[in-house]
Amino acid sequence: ETVSPLPVQTRIVTVSNQKGGVGKTTTTVNLASALARRGANVLVVDMDPQGNASTALGVPHRPEVTSIYDVLLGDDDIEDALQPTTDHENLWCVPSTIHLAGAEIELVSLVAREQRLRTALQQFLAASERRYHYVFIDCPPSLGLLTVNAFVAADEVLIPIQCEYYALEGLSQLLGNIQLIQKHLNPELAISTILLTMYDARTNLAQEVAGEVRAHFPEQVLDAVIPRSVRISEAPSYGQTVHAYDGASIGALAYLEAAAEIAERGARGEAAPERNEAAA
Ligand code: ADP
Ligand code: MG
Repeated sequence: ETVSPLPVQTRIVTVSNQKGGVGKTTTTVNLASALARRGANVLVVDMDPQGNASTALGVPHRPEVTSIYDVLLGDDDIEDALQPTTDHENLWCVPSTIHLAGAEIELVSLVAREQRLRTALQQFLAASERRYHYVFIDCPPSLGLLTVNAFVAADEVLIPIQCEYYALEGLSQLLGNIQLIQKHLNPELAISTILLTMYDARTNLAQEVAGEVRAHFPEQVLDAVIPRSVRISEAPSYGQTVHAYDGASIGALAYLEAAAEIAERGARGEAAPERNEAAA
């Protein structure tokens, strides 16, 4: 097995798509787990009130648990909300709780309401004794203040795209919003990665959509594609990632491949292993 290039600086990746059910959470937890298994220290921040990422990582997120809600709207630091995962010793999670459902409204009246996650995350990363290589932020299916906080906190956006007819239609709205964030709130933000998910190679439609997305975003779309897989969809009901649930399944292997590509391409979507070696 090859040693994966570890990033010199923490890569903060927001996983976003305002459509629900396209594989954001599945991609967040399984990529994070894959990178942890390749030797990286990885933090998952669950910004969806549903708490599906927390569930898949085996992390408690009952209402009384200290969560990202208390970081965004209370006095808690990320360190106070941080939990280990059952998935891997290199993988940690800041859970969400149901309280986050009210946060979109509660954030509106706060000072620096778009910067709260960024500030908390930067403080945490600067003070932490552990060096994190990756932070993945799982977004809710909306473009409200929680998602804006995730975009402002990140350097990179990863967009999972389900290979179906309307995939591209919703995308222009997402891209427009990312441009607004770049212009007004976070000029450093880049769409580094697009991952085709729930791919069914037997259908012409999947192939057509994949071809179209690749033509539009030749630099960003990963070669690795995540197939539609029952093992991937079963894993969360056992509180597991696909790697813990069935590490030899094609779904697990596909996420390992995607993780390897992300590690090798570096933060800006270009191949950068030489540069990483030079900097190490
Ligand atoms: P989102 O976070 O964008 O709402 P999810 O990651 O929760 O989407 O995925 C939506 C549903 O699709 C879930 O039930 C999940 O288990 C299932 N799913 C995601 N990826 C796959 C896949 N590659 N194969 C089969 N089912 C998948
Ligand atoms: Mg989700």
